[in-house]
Amino acid sequence: MSRVTEQFARAQQSLAGGVASSTRVNKALGHPLYIARGQGCEVWDLDGTRYIDLCCSHGATLLGHGDPRVTAAVHEALAAGACCSYENEKHAELAELLCQAIPCLERVRFTGSGTEAVMHTLRLARAYTGRTKILKIEGHFHGYHDQMMYSIGTPADRLGTPESPTAWPGSTGLPPALADQLVLVPYNRTDLLTAAIEKHGHELAAVILEPIYYNAGCVLPEREFLECLTTLPGKHGMLLIFDEVLCAFRMGPGGAQEYLGVTPDLCTVGKAVGGGFPLSVFGGKREIMARLMPQGDCQHSGTYNGHPTVVAAGLAAVKAYREPGFYEHINAVGERLFGGLNTIFQKHGVAAHVQGLGARFGVYFGVGGQVRSYRDAVRHQREQMLRFIKAAIDHGVYFHDYGGAACHHGFCHAMTLKQADETLQRLDDAVRAMAIH
Ligand code: PLP
Repeated sequence: MSRVTEQFARAQQSLAGGVASSTRVNKALGHPLYIARGQGCEVWDLDGTRYIDLCCSHGATLLGHGDPRVTAAVHEALAAGACCSYENEKHAELAELLCQAIPCLERVRFTGSGTEAVMHTLRLARAYTGRTKILKIEGHFHGYHDQMMYSIGTPADRLGTPESPTAWPGSTGLPPALADQLVLVPYNRTDLLTAAIEKHGHELAAVILEPIYYNAGCVLPEREFLECLTTLPGKHGMLLIFDEVLCAFRMGPGGAQEYLGVTPDLCTVGKAVGGGFPLSVFGGKREIMARLMPQGDCQHSGTYNGHPTVVAAGLAAVKAYREPGFYEHINAVGERLFGGLNTIFQKHGVAAHVQGLGARFGVYFGVGGQVRSYRDAVRHQREQMLRFIKAAIDHGVYFHDYGGAACHHGFCHAMTLKQADETLQRLDDAVRAMAIH
């Protein structure tokens, strides 16, 4: 028996479902990947099998596994005693760096996960505007707290009409009253966004979205949709919130807001900001952030917020993202991988295509044309995708399946062009095997 199989059997005796976190089971495998170690863009499982990692810690690993700059910074913080729940000099140093890099940030706060960052941002938006309702874009993912777990993973036959999307609960155990606090609009439907804001604007605290919808692979906002977001919420006294937990640093140091040229009122930043350590950030306009205690009346606190080890890791990571040439390399690898994979699908007559930007991408099976929204993405051929992922893993390229409607994949900066070519060679073999069987 392989050590991976043994480990899953053992884990099921003490961990619920055999995992520390639900989405770690890769549906294409039927078990999680058990990592013994990682270096750069490669990981090795318990059996010593080597994989090129195209999951990259669900986006947290943008530099690469075991980046020496991050490792050294964490070691230094540990050597200094890792005294948590106190302020230290590095908090402001990281805050300054983030405020320089990300357009909307004038003041920031630290939290431990993307889920928490979004939860606090919504509380702040409600405190600031005195309103409770939130406009959410259908299918966009904003973490696991109750308010945002609606309209997640909605099955294709339960979507409702585009004019009135179903507030599908992404979990049991959610208070139904929270669904009443949401107004839902499909992505890239400017007509429906306008109508919803005109109808509900007076009771909406904010509109929140993934400015680049990476959770469905990679879906960009269309120009008129963005223009509407830039102008209309403000006219109705609503705040614009960009959830950049997954977008930030993916295609540039200023994240999606810099790339798209739209500055929201507030934003969340997660995953890559911690360089593989559990750090997330929320922040925005000074006047809004002033509502947080102790200056204002809106609470945000936590024992582990801004832990010295993760702040040190974050500082090292953000400094690396701002180094000259960082994104030139990301873009060169992305171009090679995305173009190469599209060519492989064509060559083997597999109806699939890649949509990607920066270091993250989606692969869509059986969807003719560009994916523009959750409604398009959910209609992809999931069985084909699982077959592709299984074949890729069998050929030494790790893709994760999240169990939901769509998946996002990515590579890290440590991947060289040579390793990108090796990845493509392996995927060529995988797609050939998949196309035959
Ligand atoms: N928001 C977005 C856009 C995300 O992609 C995620 C995680 O994938 C979250 C929030 C939640 O972040 P976390 O898993 O760190 O709680």
